[in-house]
Amino acid sequence: DCHMVFMRASHYGRTMALVHMKPVTAVEREKPMAEVKILIIEDEKDIRELLAFTLAREGFATLEADTGTAGIDLARTKHPDLILLDLMLPGMDGLAVCRQLQREPAMAGIPVIMLTAKGEEIDRIVGLELGAADYLVKPCSLREVVLRIRSVLKRSVPSADRPVLQCGQVEIDSTGHTARVDGRPVDLTVTEFRLLQDLIENRGKVRTREQILNAVWGHSFEGYARTVDTHVRRLRAKLGEGASMIETIRGIGYRAKGQAT
Ligand code: CA
Repeated sequence: DCHMVFMRASHYGRTMALVHMKPVTAVEREKPMAEVKILIIEDEKDIRELLAFTLAREGFATLEADTGTAGIDLARTKHPDLILLDLMLPGMDGLAVCRQLQREPAMAGIPVIMLTAKGEEIDRIVGLELGAADYLVKPCSLREVVLRIRSVLKRSVPSADRPVLQCGQVEIDSTGHTARVDGRPVDLTVTEFRLLQDLIENRGKVRTREQILNAVWGHSFEGYARTVDTHVRRLRAKLGEGASMIETIRGIGYRAKGQAT
Protein backbone atom coordinates (compact mmCIF):
# COMPACT_ATOMS: atom_id res chain seq x y z
CA ASP A 1 0.00 0.00 0.00
CA CYS A 2 2.96 2.19 0.78
CA HIS A 3 3.76 3.04 -2.82
CA MET A 4 0.26 2.82 -4.17
CA VAL A 5 -0.15 6.48 -4.99
CA PHE A 6 3.18 6.66 -6.75
CA MET A 7 2.76 3.37 -8.59
CA ARG A 8 -0.64 4.35 -9.83
CA ALA A 9 0.71 7.74 -10.79
CA SER A 10 3.22 6.19 -13.12
CA HIS A 11 0.67 3.66 -14.30
CA TYR A 12 -1.66 6.42 -15.39
CA GLY A 13 1.15 8.70 -16.47
CA ARG A 14 0.54 8.17 -20.15
CA THR A 15 -3.21 8.80 -19.98
CA MET A 16 -2.77 11.82 -17.78
CA ALA A 17 -0.12 13.32 -20.01
CA LEU A 18 -2.77 13.49 -22.73
CA VAL A 19 -5.20 15.25 -20.42
CA HIS A 20 -2.74 17.77 -19.04
CA MET A 21 -1.14 19.49 -21.96
CA LYS A 22 0.97 21.84 -19.86
CA PRO A 23 1.56 22.41 -16.18
CA VAL A 24 0.00 25.58 -14.84
CA THR A 25 -0.42 26.99 -11.35
CA ALA A 26 -4.17 26.51 -11.27
CA VAL A 27 -6.10 24.13 -13.45
CA GLU A 28 -9.84 23.92 -13.75
CA ARG A 29 -11.17 20.76 -15.28
CA GLU A 30 -14.89 21.06 -15.02
CA LYS A 31 -17.40 18.76 -16.63
CA PRO A 32 -20.59 20.43 -17.84
CA MET A 33 -22.85 18.15 -15.80
CA ALA A 34 -20.72 17.94 -12.68
CA GLU A 35 -22.32 19.43 -9.60
CA VAL A 36 -19.75 18.81 -6.94
CA LYS A 37 -16.50 20.71 -7.25
CA ILE A 38 -13.38 19.62 -5.42
CA LEU A 39 -10.30 21.79 -5.04
CA ILE A 40 -7.02 19.92 -4.74
CA ILE A 41 -4.17 21.89 -3.18
CA GLU A 42 -1.05 19.76 -3.48
CA ASP A 43 2.42 20.71 -4.66
CA GLU A 44 3.45 17.23 -5.76
CA LYS A 45 2.39 17.15 -9.37
CA ASP A 46 2.06 13.38 -9.74
CA ILE A 47 -0.17 13.07 -6.67
CA ARG A 48 -2.23 16.13 -7.55
CA GLU A 49 -2.87 14.98 -11.10
CA LEU A 50 -3.63 11.45 -10.01
CA LEU A 51 -6.17 12.74 -7.49
CA ALA A 52 -7.74 15.01 -10.12
CA PHE A 53 -7.84 12.17 -12.62
CA THR A 54 -9.45 9.81 -10.10
CA LEU A 55 -12.02 12.34 -8.90
CA ALA A 56 -12.95 13.33 -12.45
CA ARG A 57 -13.52 9.65 -13.22
CA GLU A 58 -15.81 9.52 -10.16
CA GLY A 59 -17.87 12.34 -11.65
CA PHE A 60 -16.53 15.27 -9.62
CA ALA A 61 -15.44 18.55 -11.13
CA THR A 62 -11.90 19.35 -10.05
CA LEU A 63 -9.79 22.42 -9.47
CA GLU A 64 -6.05 22.18 -8.90
CA ALA A 65 -3.57 24.43 -7.22
CA ASP A 66 0.08 23.78 -6.42
CA THR A 67 0.47 26.44 -3.73
CA GLY A 68 -1.60 27.58 -0.77
CA THR A 69 -1.96 31.08 -2.18
CA ALA A 70 -3.23 29.84 -5.55
CA GLY A 71 -5.55 27.47 -3.68
CA ILE A 72 -7.09 30.23 -1.59
CA ASP A 73 -7.61 32.34 -4.72
CA LEU A 74 -9.44 29.45 -6.36
CA ALA A 75 -11.51 28.79 -3.24
CA ARG A 76 -12.48 32.46 -3.12
CA THR A 77 -13.49 32.71 -6.78
CA LYS A 78 -14.76 29.22 -7.64
CA HIS A 79 -16.53 28.21 -4.41
CA PRO A 80 -15.55 24.52 -4.28
CA ASP A 81 -17.73 22.09 -2.29
CA LEU A 82 -14.73 20.48 -0.65
CA ILE A 83 -10.98 21.06 -0.43
CA LEU A 84 -8.30 18.38 -0.38
CA LEU A 85 -5.42 20.16 1.29
CA ASP A 86 -1.84 18.97 1.51
CA LEU A 87 -0.22 19.90 4.80
CA MET A 88 3.35 20.35 3.56
CA LEU A 89 3.30 23.00 0.89
CA PRO A 90 6.09 25.37 -0.09
CA GLY A 91 5.53 28.88 1.23
CA MET A 92 2.13 28.98 2.89
CA ASP A 93 1.58 25.55 4.46
CA GLY A 94 -1.69 23.67 4.88
CA LEU A 95 -2.34 24.95 8.39
CA ALA A 96 -1.90 28.56 7.28
CA VAL A 97 -4.33 27.85 4.43
CA CYS A 98 -6.81 26.41 6.94
CA ARG A 99 -6.51 29.50 9.12
CA GLN A 100 -7.08 31.80 6.17
CA LEU A 101 -10.14 29.79 5.06
CA GLN A 102 -11.60 30.03 8.57
CA ARG A 103 -11.01 33.77 8.61
CA GLU A 104 -13.16 34.48 5.56
CA PRO A 105 -16.85 33.76 6.23
CA ALA A 106 -17.57 32.87 2.60
CA MET A 107 -14.95 30.11 2.74
CA ALA A 108 -15.16 29.04 6.39
CA GLY A 109 -17.95 26.58 5.64
CA ILE A 110 -16.07 24.65 2.96
CA PRO A 111 -15.10 21.25 4.40
CA VAL A 112 -11.38 20.53 4.26
CA ILE A 113 -9.76 17.11 4.15
CA MET A 114 -6.12 17.40 5.16
CA LEU A 115 -3.51 15.25 3.50
CA THR A 116 -0.67 14.57 5.89
CA ALA A 117 2.40 12.40 5.76
CA LYS A 118 3.23 9.84 8.44
CA GLY A 119 4.72 11.37 11.57
CA GLU A 120 2.93 14.69 11.33
CA GLU A 121 0.83 13.90 14.41
CA ILE A 122 1.31 17.27 16.11
CA ASP A 123 0.00 18.99 13.04
CA ARG A 124 -2.98 16.65 12.95
CA ILE A 125 -4.12 17.92 16.31
CA VAL A 126 -3.60 21.54 15.37
CA GLY A 127 -5.44 20.95 12.10
CA LEU A 128 -8.38 19.37 13.89
CA GLU A 129 -8.56 22.44 16.05
CA LEU A 130 -8.48 24.61 12.94
CA GLY A 131 -11.61 22.93 11.73
CA ALA A 132 -10.38 20.38 9.20
CA ALA A 133 -13.27 17.99 8.52
CA ASP A 134 -11.11 14.92 8.11
CA TYR A 135 -7.62 13.55 7.67
CA LEU A 136 -5.88 11.24 5.30
CA VAL A 137 -2.38 10.05 5.98
CA LYS A 138 -0.32 9.66 2.83
CA PRO A 139 0.29 7.33 1.22
CA CYS A 140 -3.29 6.16 1.10
CA SER A 141 -5.31 4.34 -1.49
CA LEU A 142 -7.36 6.25 -4.02
CA ARG A 143 -10.42 4.32 -2.95
CA GLU A 144 -9.97 5.63 0.59
CA VAL A 145 -9.71 9.21 -0.71
CA VAL A 146 -12.97 8.86 -2.62
CA LEU A 147 -14.76 7.22 0.34
CA ARG A 148 -13.65 9.97 2.72
CA ILE A 149 -14.72 12.68 0.29
CA ARG A 150 -18.16 11.14 -0.07
CA SER A 151 -18.52 10.76 3.68
CA VAL A 152 -17.50 14.37 4.40
CA LEU A 153 -19.79 15.70 1.66
CA LYS A 154 -22.69 13.73 3.09
CA ARG A 155 -22.07 15.24 6.51
CA SER A 156 -21.71 18.79 5.27
CA VAL A 157 -24.95 18.91 3.29
CA PRO A 158 -27.34 20.93 5.40
CA SER A 159 -30.68 19.23 5.73
CA ALA A 160 -33.30 21.86 5.05
CA ASP A 161 -35.90 20.28 7.29
CA ARG A 162 -33.81 20.57 10.44
CA PRO A 163 -35.73 22.91 12.71
CA VAL A 164 -34.41 25.70 14.87
CA LEU A 165 -33.49 24.11 18.19
CA GLN A 166 -33.57 25.79 21.56
CA CYS A 167 -31.63 24.70 24.62
CA GLY A 168 -31.58 27.00 27.63
CA GLN A 169 -30.61 30.46 26.42
CA VAL A 170 -29.03 29.00 23.30
CA GLU A 171 -30.77 28.65 19.96
CA ILE A 172 -29.29 27.12 16.80
CA ASP A 173 -30.47 27.23 13.23
CA SER A 174 -28.92 24.26 11.44
CA THR A 175 -29.89 25.50 8.01
CA GLY A 176 -28.30 28.88 8.39
CA HIS A 177 -25.48 27.55 10.61
CA THR A 178 -26.15 30.31 13.10
CA ALA A 179 -26.28 30.29 16.88
CA ARG A 180 -27.78 32.81 19.28
CA VAL A 181 -27.65 33.36 23.02
CA ASP A 182 -30.75 35.22 24.25
CA GLY A 183 -31.36 36.26 20.66
CA ARG A 184 -27.85 37.69 20.26
CA PRO A 185 -25.81 36.11 17.43
CA VAL A 186 -22.64 34.25 18.45
CA ASP A 187 -19.74 33.95 16.07
CA LEU A 188 -18.76 30.26 15.98
CA THR A 189 -16.33 28.38 13.77
CA VAL A 190 -17.74 25.54 11.68
CA THR A 191 -16.37 23.00 14.14
CA GLU A 192 -17.74 24.82 17.18
CA PHE A 193 -21.14 25.02 15.51
CA ARG A 194 -21.14 21.29 14.71
CA LEU A 195 -20.16 20.52 18.27
CA LEU A 196 -22.96 22.66 19.69
CA GLN A 197 -25.39 21.16 17.19
CA ASP A 198 -24.40 17.63 18.18
CA LEU A 199 -24.91 18.37 21.87
CA ILE A 200 -28.25 20.10 21.36
CA GLU A 201 -29.60 17.51 18.96
CA ASN A 202 -28.81 14.95 21.66
CA ARG A 203 -29.89 17.06 24.60
CA GLY A 204 -30.62 15.18 27.77
CA LYS A 205 -28.23 12.42 26.70
CA VAL A 206 -24.61 11.99 27.73
CA ARG A 207 -22.29 12.19 24.75
CA THR A 208 -18.93 10.50 25.11
CA ARG A 209 -15.89 12.24 23.65
CA GLU A 210 -15.66 9.46 21.12
CA GLN A 211 -19.28 9.96 20.00
CA ILE A 212 -18.62 13.66 19.65
CA LEU A 213 -15.46 13.07 17.61
CA ASN A 214 -17.42 10.74 15.36
CA ALA A 215 -20.28 13.15 14.90
CA VAL A 216 -18.25 16.30 14.45
CA TRP A 217 -15.09 15.09 12.70
CA GLY A 218 -16.42 11.94 11.02
CA HIS A 219 -14.52 9.41 13.05
CA SER A 220 -12.59 9.23 16.28
CA PHE A 221 -8.86 9.47 16.51
CA GLU A 222 -7.43 7.57 19.42
CA GLY A 223 -5.82 9.99 21.83
CA TYR A 224 -7.55 13.04 20.43
CA ALA A 225 -10.20 13.25 23.13
CA ARG A 226 -8.53 16.40 24.39
CA THR A 227 -9.43 18.03 21.08
CA VAL A 228 -13.07 17.74 22.16
CA ASP A 229 -12.25 19.36 25.51
CA THR A 230 -10.41 22.19 23.80
CA HIS A 231 -13.37 22.90 21.53
CA VAL A 232 -15.89 22.68 24.37
CA ARG A 233 -13.79 25.17 26.33
CA ARG A 234 -13.79 27.63 23.43
CA LEU A 235 -17.47 27.08 22.77
CA ARG A 236 -18.31 27.79 26.41
CA ALA A 237 -16.25 30.98 26.35
CA LYS A 238 -18.15 32.18 23.29
CA LEU A 239 -21.56 31.23 24.67
CA GLY A 240 -20.91 33.17 27.88
CA GLU A 241 -23.93 32.84 30.18
CA GLY A 242 -25.54 30.49 27.69
CA ALA A 243 -22.78 27.95 28.38
CA SER A 244 -24.56 26.73 31.50
CA MET A 245 -26.55 24.42 29.20
CA ILE A 246 -23.44 22.29 28.66
CA GLU A 247 -22.70 19.96 31.54
CA THR A 248 -19.39 18.16 31.95
CA ILE A 249 -19.88 14.51 32.76
CA ARG A 250 -16.64 13.67 34.52
CA GLY A 251 -14.53 11.02 32.85
CA ILE A 252 -17.10 10.49 30.12
CA GLY A 253 -17.98 13.52 28.09
CA TYR A 254 -20.66 16.19 27.89
CA ARG A 255 -24.40 16.67 27.97
CA ALA A 256 -26.69 19.46 26.91
CA LYS A 257 -29.32 20.01 29.57
CA GLY A 258 -32.89 19.33 28.62
CA GLN A 259 -35.44 16.68 27.89
CA ALA A 260 -34.23 13.90 25.62
CA THR A 261 -36.26 13.85 22.42
CA1 CA B 1 3.54 18.42 -0.22
